[in-house]
Amino acid sequence: MTCQASNELEQLVLQARPYSSQGKLATYIPALEKANPSHLSVAIFHLDGTCTYAGDYKQRFSLQSISKVLSLAYVLARIGDEEVFQRVGMEPTGDPFNSIAKLETTKPSKPLNPMINAGALVVTSLIPGADLKEQWEDFLDFIRTLTGNPEIAYNKELQESEFSTSYLNRALCFFMKQHGIINGEVEKIMELYTKQCSIEMNCLELAQLGAVFANNGRNPVSGEQIIPVQIARICKTFMVTCGMYNASGEFAMKVGIPAKSGVSGGILGVIPNRCGIGVFSPALDEKGNSLAGWKLLEFMNEKYNFSIF
Ligand code: GLN
Repeated sequence: MTCQASNELEQLVLQARPYSSQGKLATYIPALEKANPSHLSVAIFHLDGTCTYAGDYKQRFSLQSISKVLSLAYVLARIGDEEVFQRVGMEPTGDPFNSIAKLETTKPSKPLNPMINAGALVVTSLIPGADLKEQWEDFLDFIRTLTGNPEIAYNKELQESEFSTSYLNRALCFFMKQHGIINGEVEKIMELYTKQCSIEMNCLELAQLGAVFANNGRNPVSGEQIIPVQIARICKTFMVTCGMYNASGEFAMKVGIPAKSGVSGGILGVIPNRCGIGVFSPALDEKGNSLAGWKLLEFMNEKYNFSIF
């Protein structure tokens, strides 16, 4: 793999960086407050195996909600779409990612989609395995295969910080357990979920993982089909309709690519049949999307014209 610094991207980073001062770090997970709000990094991984990067590209960050696309791909591949979509829907909500509101008003109370917390918790509850250890290790192996880095791991401090403060996510789980949408022990689901959210990587690894989706599930370097074509398609579709929380419509309008963001400030972008993009900048807008990261993608779209629409 050849990765190179790009002057052109560096210029765009320079243009977007000032926006980071308008955003705020997520603080509801205490350990996320330790991030440096002025960080901004980007990498593009092309399907010919080359990649370019700019900004603070070495900086590692946790996936948070970006992991929701990956757990979905994994569970769909392992247990099949019928079982998954019996328990989680396919529609955007227009609500914040951690909202409980629609669970009460939708009958049966299955979450509207797998990109919101309620839906992602259902997906995590479906990760197969004899016990928590096996569930976690097999899932982590999948992430390592996707990034091509066998050292990918989760940040324990961050995981413990979220696990010990996740009252709202526990509430979502208990609500859904009451309604028969999830089975199993809530504490175990929470452990697995907070571990998947705390998986760390840099923008290069995130871009490489995005390139697998861009390449219809096939690793562009090894040629290995890691995710079945149909599942890669389902994931990209959810990224367009629900990937940027309740700002997905505006993002589709302004940038126009499948994308998924996380409250750590990471954004995974996928340009079908072209490249994967990894962006990171931890200061967020009021809906929880990386402010400078979003701006950078807008500038990139103006320059490279990558909207799929
Ligand atoms: N771990 C976070 C949570 O469940 C992920 C949310 C996010 O990135 N939007 O609250």
